[in-house]
Amino acid sequence: MKLRIKESLNSLTPKITSNLLNERPPFPKKAKIEITTRCDLKCYYCKLTRNNPQKEMSEFLVKKILQDLKNNGVEQVGLFWLGEPLFNKKLSEYIKFSKKIGIKYVFITTNGRMAVPERIKDIIDSGIDSIKFSINSSTREEYYNTTKVDAFDQVIENLKSLKKIRGSSKKPRIVASSIFLPSNVEEFYKINSMIQPYVDKHYPLHIYGDKNIIKHKNITKKDNDHKIIKNSKKKLTCIAIYVTMLVSICGTSYKLRWKNRIVFL
Ligand code: SF4
Repeated sequence: MKLRIKESLNSLTPKITSNLLNERPPFPKKAKIEITTRCDLKCYYCKLTRNNPQKEMSEFLVKKILQDLKNNGVEQVGLFWLGEPLFNKKLSEYIKFSKKIGIKYVFITTNGRMAVPERIKDIIDSGIDSIKFSINSSTREEYYNTTKVDAFDQVIENLKSLKKIRGSSKKPRIVASSIFLPSNVEEFYKINSMIQPYVDKHYPLHIYGDKNIIKHKNITKKDNDHKIIKNSKKKLTCIAIYVTMLVSICGTSYKLRWKNRIVFL
């Protein structure tokens, strides 16, 4: 069983190669900036549902961080982390600024509720490279159950409009992800077949050991991997420091001490 978990994680996460194991590992090529912590949904598994500071990063700080990231060789920037990026009224301006200073790939993940055609058109015109919809339910009822907002139909409509607005162009890339649990396979495939015509890629998000998801979803025997990781004494090392830098709303990078290891999120 343990081998299965390791194989599964190895297939999902980049490997830590020997050139990264230095006192000063290379600066990551990818970063995400938390330009807002506001959100219009209340997902049961989200930290913001329990404690939402409702903040926005100042324009000065966003632009300074973007320039600093570019100067340190970052090539891909996500203008979001937790929080819904469309809440930030300056999102289009930040996309334009990122492209102007030479960041190769600029992307967002949105819950899609506010991604109405006028807004999405503005974002596409700003030069964004990829837009990802995070859709974690396959029916209106289940969506409400998960987010406490009745917005499933609106989100699917917005995704269809995005595809229509993009037309035959290849940019921006349209992506979607959905939380995947082995006990929930049917739901994943249901949403997959529903949105397949409107996205370039839809992929499962494997969440290991999230206690809120484990509680909510009535984990079955099939989800043993999740339980094992949750209960494991030997914690998994976070490799985000090598791969993606996360810059929080106050402009710092996240760092955790976890079982005598320093990990960065
Ligand atoms: S949509 Fe994202 S940020 Fe908003 S509550 Fe859900 S998980 Fe959190």
